[in-house]
Amino acid sequence: MGKTAVITGAGRGIGAAIAKRLAKDGFDIAVNELTEGSGAQTVEECKALGVKAAAYAADVSDYAQCEEMVKKIKEDFGTIDALVNNAGITRDGLLLRMTEENYDSVIRINQKSVFNMTKFVGAVMLRQKSGSIVNLASVAGLYGNPGQMNYSASKGAVIAMTKTSAKELGSRGIRVNAVAPGFIQTPMTDKLTDEQKNAILAQIAMKRYGQPEEIANVVAFLLSDDASYVTGQTIEISGGLSM
Ligand code: NAP
Repeated sequence: MGKTAVITGAGRGIGAAIAKRLAKDGFDIAVNELTEGSGAQTVEECKALGVKAAAYAADVSDYAQCEEMVKKIKEDFGTIDALVNNAGITRDGLLLRMTEENYDSVIRINQKSVFNMTKFVGAVMLRQKSGSIVNLASVAGLYGNPGQMNYSASKGAVIAMTKTSAKELGSRGIRVNAVAPGFIQTPMTDKLTDEQKNAILAQIAMKRYGQPEEIANVVAFLLSDDASYVTGQTIEISGGLSM
């Protein structure tokens, strides 16, 4: 195919599933990892699907590290055709108990990272006059969620940033969309208590949690030419959590 996809935080969970799905679709894969070595398994699994793959350690909340990483990926792969801003964290707590550090770190990692990566990869795509970007938002960013003042703010911002970048980049053939997952079974949600999990399950029309591959399928569609006239949109993937 000769196309390259960059996926942030692709060592596990949803990011790893997206990397493998895009590798199946024929993309060469640049796996971003925070912790050196955490993306190694994803890289091996992508290579086993017959594409080129490599890992790049960088903290995506750090502007300079993103600039350096994107430069290196461009040198190694020659082109960047797809970007998935997937890396994210939670630091939950009710408003009055939430620390300033927990507020700031979630905003930095979930929100500023999207600015950093969209700016540097966007510059490459603008020169190519083509490309597609998908941002990982959340139902918390659409509807709010108790205990997630920081997280819902960051994901609401991601939805607004998706629309703004779609408007800025659309005339140059670059599309930007978002997905808003509900409750997906990953290390991020494994840490919720059974009580919290059951309360969420009760609200889901399909009465089950989502799997990372079910997010990856929609991301692959949005990045593909099948979605060639779709931009600035946020698709909820939640098994009918809200209707
Ligand atoms: P996860 O299993 O906790 O994985 C998060 C990934 O992000 C890890 O690979 C981690 O890298 C990486 N990461 C964290 N901070 C980073 C940083 N500063 N720089 C680079 N990478 C960083 O999370 P997930 O459940 O797959 O979630 C993926 C995305 O979907 C997130 O944006 C999340 O907010 C969103 N989402 C998830 C759900 C859900 O139910 N799971 C629902 C809605 C939205 P290391 O392994 O190297 O630490």
